[in-house]
Amino acid sequence: RHLRKLFPAKSAFGTREKKFIKAVDDVSFTLNPRETLGVVGESGCGKSTMGRSVLRLIEPTDGEILYKGQDFKKASGQELRRMRAEMQIIFQDPYASLNPRMTIGEIIAEPLNIQKRYGSKEETREHVLKVMEVVGLNPKYYNRYPHEFSGGQRQRIGIARSIVLGPSLVVCDEPVSALDVSIQSQVLNLLRHLQESMGMAYIFISHNLSVIRHISDRVMVMYLGHVVELADKKQLYENPSHPYTQALLSAIPLPERHSTRKKILLKGDLPSPADPPSGCIFHTRCFMAQEICSVEKPELKDIGGGHMCACHFCGGCNQ
Ligand code: SF4
Ligand code: MG
Repeated sequence: RHLRKLFPAKSAFGTREKKFIKAVDDVSFTLNPRETLGVVGESGCGKSTMGRSVLRLIEPTDGEILYKGQDFKKASGQELRRMRAEMQIIFQDPYASLNPRMTIGEIIAEPLNIQKRYGSKEETREHVLKVMEVVGLNPKYYNRYPHEFSGGQRQRIGIARSIVLGPSLVVCDEPVSALDVSIQSQVLNLLRHLQESMGMAYIFISHNLSVIRHISDRVMVMYLGHVVELADKKQLYENPSHPYTQALLSAIPLPERHSTRKKILLKGDLPSPADPPSGCIFHTRCFMAQEICSVEKPELKDIGGGHMCACHFCGGCNQ
C-alpha cells in the first residue's frame, strides 16, 4: 500500500537543493494466493525496485507491505526470518546471481542452512536432490560449479534455490530476459508447472509484453514509478485503456489481430525520475493529452470490474 522508494540524486553543480529519484512512487496493489501478477514497463520504470522493495531487499522509503495481513515492513528478528522464508526471488542474470565458488548443491542448500531447516547434512542433501529433480537438473550435477552450465541450466539452479524453502511468493525479476529465445519457453513452462504443483504466487517482472501475456493472470503497467493501468490479462490486452498501454501494445504484432491497428509512436524521451512531469506523469509523451493533464494528476481508479486506470479520459481513450 502506497509503496515509495526514493534514491538521493546527485544535485546539479552549485546547487544545494537535495533531489531525489522517485523510483517507485505511491504504488498499491493486491496479490492473491497462486496468482501471477505481471509487471510490465520500459526499463527504468521502477519494476525491479518495486519487486525488491516488496521483499525488503532494499528498504522502501514509505508505505506498507501486508503479507497475510501482517506488516512485513515492521517485522524484525525471528519473525522477519520466518516471513523471509516464504518470499523468494529469481534474478535476471543467471551468471551474476550464482556464487562461482559454490557447488550447485551448496547454492541450493544455502536457504535451508540459513533457515536451519534440518539438523543433519544428509537430510539437507536429500531435500536438495529432490528439488534438483523437480526443476529438471540431473542430480549428478550436485558437486559441479555454475560455470560448467549454460544460461538455461543456471536459471534452473536459481529457480531451485528460490523454491527450496517452499515459498508462497516468488518475485521473478526478468527471469528469462537473459536467455536464448529457444530456452525462454522451457523456463516459463517450468515456472508455470511449479506454480501449479506448489501453489505459489508470482510477481513476474518483464519488459516483454508477449512473455507477460503468456504467464500472467493480471497485468500491471508501470511508467516512471507509477502504476498507470492494472487489469485482468484479457481485459488489458483486448481493451487497453491507458494511452501508454495502448502505445506499448501497438508495438507488438498480435496474430489474432491481423487488423488495421496502427503503431502508436510516443513523442520524446522518458523524462527523468528525479524531475517527473507535473500533473499526469505521462503528459509529456501522451498523444491524448489535454490542458488539464499537465496540471492535475489523475487517480488510479476502477473503470469497471476491477480494471484500474490512471487517466483523466479513461474509457473515452479507446476510440
Ligand atoms: Fe494522457 Fe492526459 Fe490521460 Fe495522462 S491523463 S494519460 S496525459 S490523456
Ligand atoms: Mg529491472
